[in-house]
Amino acid sequence: MFALIDCDNFFVSCERLFRPELNGRPVVVLSSNDGCAVSRSTEAKALGIPMGAPAFKYRELFRQHNVISFSGNFALYGDISRRLMLLLTEVTPYLECYSVDESFLDLSQLPEQDWRRWAVRLRRRIWQEIGLPVSIGIAPTKGLTKVANHRAKKDPLLGGVLNLADMPQWLIDTQLAATPLEDVWGIGWRLGPRLRAEGLQTALDIKQLTPRRARQLMGGVRGSQLQLELSGIACFPLETAGRVRQTVSHGRMFGHDTADPLAIRAAISSLTARACRDLRRDGLAASGVYLKLRGNRHKPGSPRWSHCLRLNTPTADPGLICAQLATALAADPAAQQIWHRADVLLFNLTPSAHLQTDMLGYVQTAQAVRGQQRLQAIDAINRRYGADRLRYAAENLSNVWQPKAGSRSPRYTTDWGELPVAIIKV
Ligand SMILES: [Mg+2]
Repeated sequence: MFALIDCDNFFVSCERLFRPELNGRPVVVLSSNDGCAVSRSTEAKALGIPMGAPAFKYRELFRQHNVISFSGNFALYGDISRRLMLLLTEVTPYLECYSVDESFLDLSQLPEQDWRRWAVRLRRRIWQEIGLPVSIGIAPTKGLTKVANHRAKKDPLLGGVLNLADMPQWLIDTQLAATPLEDVWGIGWRLGPRLRAEGLQTALDIKQLTPRRARQLMGGVRGSQLQLELSGIACFPLETAGRVRQTVSHGRMFGHDTADPLAIRAAISSLTARACRDLRRDGLAASGVYLKLRGNRHKPGSPRWSHCLRLNTPTADPGLICAQLATALAADPAAQQIWHRADVLLFNLTPSAHLQTDMLGYVQTAQAVRGQQRLQAIDAINRRYGADRLRYAAENLSNVWQPKAGSRSPRYTTDWGELPVAIIKV
């Protein structure tokens, strides 16, 4: 038996945690650079603001209906997500963190008879201890928990919980029939239109496909597995271990297009530093680096430039990587253009604890160990005094590139300087 716990309007709910006066009002959270809506409150959805709505097109509607818009505060959302996952691990260690606001739980180890009552209690606990509204779907397969969760969100009569496990088949089928096929797990905007063209409309239509037809329509074995999952036969196990990382990447659209070499260097340094921090957190080092710069797509002849680095000694040191990237950038006249976005991708990842030496002496062990010790010291200082307190100066060469985030809320839970202040009146 599985449960899927999924937060309602996650980013908006995080904002409302510290601004309870926004409950009941239309709220949207915008993507990086305040580009488009990535999370909408129920009230905002009711105004007809679609997912991904470009902010500039909806500016007038926002003003008319007093829609509150926030710049994405991803440090805050990440921290609230971590708290929720921590609470769920207290419920059961058999869980899969599927995304920032969704987790699958394997319930088969839990001594419980009445799953609905269990879910109602868990939902109340999450609300009390973290302050997030969630929906819970319960079913014998992960594919069906997705449907159950979707219905629990859409149908207010269900109170945020739907248990398909004890239902007779005809009742499950009514829930499947009420679920549009785009909301079925694994069918997104790509596959959806193709299936609609074949006359399929709902999750029930997919369940009723023959395995052969499911394979034909939905790309092989994954398709027939999906069909089986909707019929109540589990094909997808819980993936507790998490997938092994192959790459780490960080990219940003700039707040202003720029040709300023200092701004470009600052952007690259900052993105590389973030990617390297992720590497070190997972105990990894990279020996491949790929840097990509892109001009504004909306302007004619938008330029592109990329550079690939191969390092003899795998590293998670942004200083080493940035120095080489900066040299490559300065040496190539084609890189001197007006840029709109930068992406840094680290690949060929290996565990940093086992540095593989080579016979030819390319790998510089002593230097790598010294570098690692320096990074450990930097990480220890930043853990104590706040993220980014100590960093490479190149990151601060210019802030022209920094994405616009005009209406970001404070990082209430991750920055000492932005703690919420309580005023007690006596
Ligand atoms: Mg969600």
